[in-house]
Amino acid sequence: STMPPLLSAIANAGRHGVLVKSAVVMERLGQIDAVALDKTGTLTEGTPRVTDIRPLAASGLTEKELLRLAAAAEHPSEHPLARAIVDAARDRRLPLPPVTDFASTPGTGVRAKVEGRTVAVGSPARLLDRTSATVAARLEEQGRTAVLVTVDGTPVGVLGIADRLRDEAGAAVHALVRLTACAPVLLTGDNEPAARALAAEVGIPEVRAGLLPQEKAGAVQEMARAGRKVLVVGDGVNDAPALAAAHAGVAMGRAGSDLALETADAVVVRDELAAIPAVVRLSRAARRLVI
Ligand code: ADP
Ligand code: MG
Repeated sequence: STMPPLLSAIANAGRHGVLVKSAVVMERLGQIDAVALDKTGTLTEGTPRVTDIRPLAASGLTEKELLRLAAAAEHPSEHPLARAIVDAARDRRLPLPPVTDFASTPGTGVRAKVEGRTVAVGSPARLLDRTSATVAARLEEQGRTAVLVTVDGTPVGVLGIADRLRDEAGAAVHALVRLTACAPVLLTGDNEPAARALAAEVGIPEVRAGLLPQEKAGAVQEMARAGRKVLVVGDGVNDAPALAAAHAGVAMGRAGSDLALETADAVVVRDELAAIPAVVRLSRAARRLVI
C-alpha cells in the first residue's frame, strides 16, 4: 500500500490489540530505552481477591462485620483492591449500607461515612498505626497487600488481598529487556515485601515501593534526566502522572481507570502485555522505512 509507514504501523498495532493515539506516539514507542512498570493491574491480572479477614481483638467486630464496613466504604471506588473487597462481601451475601462523603486518595485509600461513622480503608503505612502493624507485616511477608480499616480514626482490622501474576508477565518483561538493553524498574504504591516477591518472579531487579502518584512521576523524570527515554506501563489513576511524564505511556485497557486511558499515549485494549514489545518492534520497523 501507499500508506505512510507510521500509519501502517498504527494499523498493525491495532491488530495486536493496541490503540496508538498518533503517528508521533507510534514513532516514540520505537525510541524507548528504559522501562518502568506498575504492579497492581499491570503485572498482575488486576482482579485481586480477599484472602484474609483479621478484626483486631479490641474492636469487638466479627470477620463479617469488618468486611461489611470496609466494602461499604469501598463501594464507590474503581480501584482493583476496592473491587476485591466489595466482591468478597457479595460472595458472603452481606448487604451493604449506603455511604456519604466518599473521598479517595490515589495511592493511599478511601474514606466514607457509613451509618454515621467515618470508615477509612487503605495503606497501613499511610494510615500509620502501631497496633495493626504486626498483623499487616505478617501478611505482607506472605506477598499479600495488607489494607487497614479504621472507624472514626481507630484501627479495627486488617484485610489481606492477593492478586495473580499475569501468565505472560515474565515473557513480556524479558522481551522488553532485550529491546531496551536495560534493566526495568517496578514502580508501585504497594508495600515493599510484596513488590519484591513479585518483581523477583518476573525478573525485575529494581523495585521502588510505597510511592505516591507524584513520586512515581518523579522516578520517571529522574530517569529522563539521566538521559533515558522511558516507556511507562500502568493502569490506575495513581499511574496518570507517571504516564504523562513518560517518553511513551501505555495503559492496560481492561482494568484501566478512565484517567489512565486518557492520559496514556497508547492503550492495550486487548489487555495482553505481550502486545507491548510487539508494538515497539513495529515502530522500529516503520522508522527504518521512514529514514
Ligand atoms: P499500585 O501502584 O501497585 O498499582 P496503588 O498505588 O494503586 O498500587 O495503591 C497503593 C496502595 O495504596 C495499595 O497497596 C493500598 O495499600 C492503598 N490503596 C490505594 N487505593 C486503595 C483502595 N481503594 N482501598 C484500599 N487501599 C487502597
Ligand atoms: Mg495499578
